[in-house]
Amino acid sequence: MSNAYDVIVIGSGAGGGTLVHRLAPSGKRILLLERGSWLRREPQNWRAEDVFVDGRYISPDTWHYDDLTPFQPQVHYFVGGATKLYGAALYRLREEDFGELEHHDGTSPAWPISYSDMEPYYTQAERLYQVHGARGEDPTEPPCSAPYPFPAVSHEPRIQQLSDDLAAEGLHPFHAPCGILLDEGNMPFSTCVRCDNCDGFPCLVHAKSDAEVIAVRPAIKHPNVTLLTGAQALRLECNDAGTAVTGVVASVNGIEETFRGDIVVVSCGAANSARLLLSSACDAHPNGLANGSDQVGRNYMFHNSQAVLALSKEENPTVFQKTLGVNDFYLSGTDDFAFPLGNIQMVGKSQAPMFRGEKPGETRFAPTWSLEQVARHAVDFWLSTEDLPRPDNRVWLARDGKLTIGYTASNEEPKKRLYHQLKSMLADLGMHHDHLLPHHAYLKNEIPVAGCAHQAGTCRFGTDPSTSVLDPDCRAHEVDNLYVVDTSFFPSIGAVNPALTAMANALRVGDHLLDRLDTAAPRPEPVQVA
Ligand SMILES: Cc1cc2nc3c(=O)[nH]c(=O)nc-3n(C[C@H](O)[C@H](O)[C@H](O)COP(=O)(O)OP(=O)(O)OC[C@H]3O[C@@H](n4cnc5c(N)ncnc54)[C@H](O)[C@@H]3O)c2cc1C
Ligand code: SF4
Repeated sequence: MSNAYDVIVIGSGAGGGTLVHRLAPSGKRILLLERGSWLRREPQNWRAEDVFVDGRYISPDTWHYDDLTPFQPQVHYFVGGATKLYGAALYRLREEDFGELEHHDGTSPAWPISYSDMEPYYTQAERLYQVHGARGEDPTEPPCSAPYPFPAVSHEPRIQQLSDDLAAEGLHPFHAPCGILLDEGNMPFSTCVRCDNCDGFPCLVHAKSDAEVIAVRPAIKHPNVTLLTGAQALRLECNDAGTAVTGVVASVNGIEETFRGDIVVVSCGAANSARLLLSSACDAHPNGLANGSDQVGRNYMFHNSQAVLALSKEENPTVFQKTLGVNDFYLSGTDDFAFPLGNIQMVGKSQAPMFRGEKPGETRFAPTWSLEQVARHAVDFWLSTEDLPRPDNRVWLARDGKLTIGYTASNEEPKKRLYHQLKSMLADLGMHHDHLLPHHAYLKNEIPVAGCAHQAGTCRFGTDPSTSVLDPDCRAHEVDNLYVVDTSFFPSIGAVNPALTAMANALRVGDHLLDRLDTAAPRPEPVQVA
């Protein structure tokens, strides 16, 4: 096997996997390096004990707090990356997220591209990832050039009731955008069986629109695409002038190999991409590759999130719960608070085994309830408040190369208010008044930094090389053939889930690379914003 390629992509998740899917028809020689393996299809995929209690699919790795205390991050090193376990809520950022947005704790910065630049790629990403949704329900929905490619996933009765009750409160609940391969009109032929083991679980029947199923598997059918699993990129080598990457040094199943690529794309997830660049310091880049601005690793974000459960007066027999969202507080806050609070959405339905390690039955509101009773009545919410990019929130390497994260939360006040807003409505939503419990099972770990599911921002893109790592095409300002396409490029994170934006951006960067490679590879027609 030759070690020379036109494009090397490192990491096969939402960013890297989608990019390879876009490049595959070009005929160019493409190498996809993935440190993990294929996620095994096995009965344990759908067992809450295995997934949530034993952490079967959390990959072994050790990161460190800034005082060098070690912790295990909630990372998933598989073909498809974190999308193998994700909840597949595939939201567009709001149009306002691309501009400056005033928050309680400061300004969320503008992106170097506008929403209308990204819009055609959101539409393409929604088609590729087969997103189900309904336009026109969400009051913050940005302009869209096409309807969702598939109808919204229906609410089950308890969630429909919740939707009706929220509407009676004057809010605008909407059907959440879902990336699942569900055909409700023809269930005998539907790939998705609509089960209760989706959000946070791998999908045993490959019916979740994850990057492995949707992007990597189709891409490697092209003979010009090579996937190497068990291949961890260790460092990038560059020429003497430091203007081009000349080699990717990887450990392939324990054996070190160097690969050559005309273009090298890093997409290891925000923390690991920063680690790779910082590990690639050389004479021309003494502080880490492409880090003349000292921005690599900085501005780490992962949402100021809360997973909570309320207790329904009636039992909640919902199977697939992640069908509803509320964005009434996304941009405007409340009457007495002018700043954005964030997004409210549902998470996967609680199951009693998920609570092992927690003690919800012993809390003051339901002292006599068994875990099973709590689970039967639980209605589970995920509240996301935007955290702001702060230079001191950062990934760096300790002297011995340890990945280290320093992070102080921002926007705690809007986070608190979003929680209290939901809590204040419980009685009108058919829930036990005043009972809103933290639900650590979804986060797996009570340590917030370890719950890095939505990590972003360590190599932000921008027009000014002194304040950003990447240019608006996601190419490193300082290294001509180096790109980053995972969520590292986000200059701000908004308050909706990040994966669709990573996918859409990978398609956008893919078109740029096809132009650069001068190929006549087929590209979807650009669509205009209506
Ligand atoms: C439980 C959970 C639920 C989530 N739910 C949602 C949701 O509902 N909606 C949503 O939008 N987002 C959700 N997310 C977040 C979403 O999955 C991520 O935002 C998205 O996958 C990020 O894409 P990425 O390309 O940046 O990184 P990843 O998808 O994590 O991909 C990075 C890849 O790089 C590989 N890698 C790392 N280092 C190296 C190396 N040195 N060499 C080679 N390969 C390497 C990794 O193994 C991985 O495959 C969820 C995440 C989790 C964990
Ligand atoms: S709900 Fe559908 S996509 Fe999700 S895990 Fe179950 S079968 Fe898979």
